[in-house]
Amino acid sequence: MPVRPSAARTSKQKTSPTPDAAARAARSAAPVYKRIVLKISGEGFCKPGGFGIEGETIGRIAEEVADVARLGIQVAVVVGGGNFLRGSTLAEKSRIHPASAHYMGMLATVINALALQEELETHKLITRVQSAINISAVCEPFIRRRCISHLEKGRVVILGAGTGRPFVTTDSAAALAAVELGADVLLKATKVDGVYSADPMKDKNAKRYTGLTYNQVINDRLKVMDVSAIDMCQQNGVPIIVFSLMKPGNMRRVVLGEHVGTTIDE
Ligand code: UDP
Repeated sequence: MPVRPSAARTSKQKTSPTPDAAARAARSAAPVYKRIVLKISGEGFCKPGGFGIEGETIGRIAEEVADVARLGIQVAVVVGGGNFLRGSTLAEKSRIHPASAHYMGMLATVINALALQEELETHKLITRVQSAINISAVCEPFIRRRCISHLEKGRVVILGAGTGRPFVTTDSAAALAAVELGADVLLKATKVDGVYSADPMKDKNAKRYTGLTYNQVINDRLKVMDVSAIDMCQQNGVPIIVFSLMKPGNMRRVVLGEHVGTTIDE
């Protein structure tokens, strides 16, 4: 089970380990998870406010993922596509049918997946890209059993094209993947360092939560992930950790059980 410290949590602590356990794990560099699904949004592919893929940013993120994979954890990465486009925004600003705009968003995630694959391979990792939309010239289709087999062989699997269906986001795809692949945790790497009571950019009194229950997130309409993604994790007992991509070393800290960002569970 994951090791998470409990100080200052606002939620019940049924699955929380002791701070001592977290500190011990961090010292011995022993990961507390066997298999993780890591959601990296499009923000992980370019500078803040930028567009497309920017080498330095993706290089740094890949280094962090490689660092985690080298600890012996099985890593499946779900990539977003917001650095290129989000279907709902494009549909609002154009005459493109929303469904087509969403498919375009899914294709954008495949571009990111291929970029991340190349970067990870510079770290001598063996990787596979699997796509929920068949694009056989560039990657494998998503096949659950094959994906698990890759993970068991120590390959990092990058999942592109979200769920393969329009009108949802890659957060839902990540929740689905975490459940399908039997991951111990869903790690959501984003530009903010956790879940806040309000937008910290707009409200200086916004408070960061260290721990929340699924119900708190849903009932208080906290902007973390799609409600369906939270619900999926709740129904299947997959904890979620939201943390900042921007701080180097964070990913490693999370998998070693240090308390980083916000943990969401029962
Ligand atoms: N998308 C979709 N179905 C999915 C996943 C993604 O239609 O299962 C589309 C949707 O338009 C979304 C876009 O792909 O806005 C890019 O994904 P997302 O917004 O999740 O990227 P992120 O915000 O994580 O960068």
